[in-house]
Amino acid sequence: MTKQPDGEAVKAELLGTTVPIHATGKHVVDPARLQEALGKSDSAIRLFCTGCGQYYELSAEDALPLIPEDDVWPEDLEGKFLNAASCSQCDGSDPTVVLVPIRHLLG
Ligand SMILES: [Zn+2]
Repeated sequence: MTKQPDGEAVKAELLGTTVPIHATGKHVVDPARLQEALGKSDSAIRLFCTGCGQYYELSAEDALPLIPEDDVWPEDLEGKFLNAASCSQCDGSDPTVVLVPIRHLLG
């Protein structure tokens, strides 16, 4: 029996255990998908990866360290999503993550 390192276990729980996805880039987020209710009780925000087109749900605790802006609080995540250039499930190497209001996507 092998024990995974804690970081790997957390990542597996967050992102699922799937094989790496090729990051083709230029995926476009679906605003309707962002407006769906979050599925997990501790989820605070969705993250969309433009590298591979995957959607993730993150808790505030996991999301806040990803955001480069200063002074972002859990309540600031309301009505927004994280737009990432790559994620741990794909082979993109651009670490850019931007906090975007969902209403900016709605016509
Ligand atoms: Zn990705």
